[in-house]
Formats: sequence, C-alpha cells, structure tokens
Amino acid sequence: MFKTKILLGTNNRKKGIELSELLFPYEIGVCTLADFKDKPEVIEDGKTFIENARKKAIENARFFGMITIGEDSGLSVDTLGGEPGIYSARFASNTKNLNTTDEANNKLLLEKLASEPLEKRTAFYTCAAVIADSSGKIIGEAEQYCRGRILFELSGNEGFGYDPLFEIIEYHKTFGALCPAVKRAISHRARTMRKLIPIIISYTTNIRPFR
Ligand code: IMP
Repeated sequence: MFKTKILLGTNNRKKGIELSELLFPYEIGVCTLADFKDKPEVIEDGKTFIENARKKAIENARFFGMITIGEDSGLSVDTLGGEPGIYSARFASNTKNLNTTDEANNKLLLEKLASEPLEKRTAFYTCAAVIADSSGKIIGEAEQYCRGRILFELSGNEGFGYDPLFEIIEYHKTFGALCPAVKRAISHRARTMRKLIPIIISYTTNIRPFR
C-alpha cells in the first residue's frame, strides 16, 4: 500500500512507470492521465519546457484535485539548433500540432542528420517538472538534462521515443540498449525528479521544505 498517490500529468504510461519506480521506495504511488477517461485538454503552447510543465501541473491539479506533477521533456540536437526541442513528440508533423509516432520522429531525425559525422551529432534530453498542490498552487519546480549523441541507426528496444538512437557516450550504448536501471539512475527525468522528491515528501508528510 502507498502512503500517498500523486498524478503525473501525461498520457505516456512509460513516463508513469519510470516515475513510479523512482518514487516506490518512498511509498508514493503514481497514476497518469492514461488511467482516466475524463480529463482536461491542456494546450501545450508554451515557448519553453518549463512553461508547458507549469500548464500541465496547474490545469490537471485543478481538474482532478490531486497533487500533480506536470512534466515536459524532449530532445535537443546541437547541430540542428536545438531541434526538435519542445516539439519532440510532434517532430514529424508538418504543422507541429499533432503528436507523431516514435518511428516517424526517429526516421526524420536520421534524415536531418544524414550528412553529419559522429562528432557533430551531440544532443541532450531536457526534463522540466512542476508540482502543484491539489488546488493548483505551484509548490516546486526543477529542470535537468542528460547528454549523449545520435547514432546512425536504431539500437535496442528499451525506453521509448528517441532512446534507440540516443547514445550515452560513456556506456557506448543507447538508452534503448542499456538496461532500464541505468536510465533510472542518469536520465534527465531521474535527475529532475530527484530534485523534486524532497519537496513531495515534505509536502505529503506536512513538513515544510527547507528554503
Ligand atoms: P511530451 O510528452 O509532450 O513531454 O513529449 C516528450 C517527447 O520527447 C516524447 O514523445 C519523446 O519523443 C521525447 N522524449 C522525452 N523524454 C524522452 C526519453 O526519456 N526518451 C526518449 N524520448 C524522450
């Protein structure tokens, strides 16, 4: 049994699983929007990851009356001027307003980088996360990164999104080929959530966080 349950404001079950594994030792359970039929449609029109994360946190917390983490994440490729960035989930959509499949996004990324040698394929993931209390008031924010580079072909079936292309240079393997425990330790999401965990614990046990 969990002491508390919080909502992660995303329909992506895989992100939910990653967060539940991180919060499990603290007896905090996680549900996602995929567990609910009725949910607000949050328009992701922010100019930055953190702006989108704030919207997801506030609007979902108000709707469900639950402590909610709004999370926005994506891949930025240095030689593409930071593309796909906040449009990572919609990269292969011409209008950038509809989510596209991981396959289509990865294919487009490989096409755009086709003429780039390995040393020019550096990239990083960003994860911004914002916690709102059950009334929608923001009680914590964090943003962290994970660096790597984009390989020339897919490798591995773990993770999701761009993971089969995203190589962690020190491990000589993509997140798709590395065991999930490594991603849990070093990913952008893990780093961001580790910053927020003390705030969640303090809040859910009614102790004020250190300032
Ligand atoms: P969001 O759900 O609107 O935040 O979109 C996030 C998108 O960024 C995903 O659909 C993926 O394309 C990409 N992304 C974010 N985090 C990861 C990750 O950990 N691995 C692979 N792709 C990711």
